[in-house]
Amino acid sequence: MKNFIGKYYVSLTITCIIIIFVGVTFWPKRSEPQQPSKQLPPEKAPLEYYLVAIDPGHGGRDGGSGYDAVKEKDINLAIAKKIKTIYQSWKGQIMLTREGDYRVTELYPNERTKQRRDLSGRIKIAQEENADLLVSIHVNAASSALKGPMVFYQKDNEISKELGRSILEQLHHVERHQQQDLIGADYFILRQADIPTVLVEVGFITHPEERGKLQTEEYQEQLARAIAEGVKGFFLTKERHLPRT
Ligand SMILES: [Zn+2]
Repeated sequence: MKNFIGKYYVSLTITCIIIIFVGVTFWPKRSEPQQPSKQLPPEKAPLEYYLVAIDPGHGGRDGGSGYDAVKEKDINLAIAKKIKTIYQSWKGQIMLTREGDYRVTELYPNERTKQRRDLSGRIKIAQEENADLLVSIHVNAASSALKGPMVFYQKDNEISKELGRSILEQLHHVERHQQQDLIGADYFILRQADIPTVLVEVGFITHPEERGKLQTEEYQEQLARAIAEGVKGFFLTKERHLPRT
């Protein structure tokens, strides 16, 4: 086992640890939920009317989870860009919180840590564009036995849960996680966002086979299409309005 560890160095950045474990610390919400519901005008199609924000987790010096030279931030961005292309091909409105390899810390200079400045900046980018949904894309890291996607929704938020379930149903056509896969959570980005938000862990960088697949265009495309289909399915099911939460 020591040789194994010595041979393969698994790096988990502080960022990912904070998201998964420390980001749940008590932190007041910045504002009350927005009301009333945003009504869809009868002449509008939901995909063209509602704006979806995709957040490729990490960036710049924050690589996220990693394994050898494989960095989470690169996989997140590649999948996010593919989601954007697919969604736009359906004439859907979509934006990314980052388009390149950088952090967005400067938008919230007064937050206590770089991590909070970065996550708050991503929420701010989405909300200032009046996005209606936020989907944050990440890659998981754990023991080498675990694989498959997981989706985290805003605990006690039914809209977020419905969105998460719709995305996960599509992801199950690509790959399944063996244990829990749809989880209510209280992570910083889920708690702070005023719009329905989910965090998608597309797979495990620590699983040898999955790590290989996550680096391929083909698998990234499959995951991206599943996430895009999940968002589309959510809107088409909800049809006429999307309550602000
Ligand atoms: Zn991450």
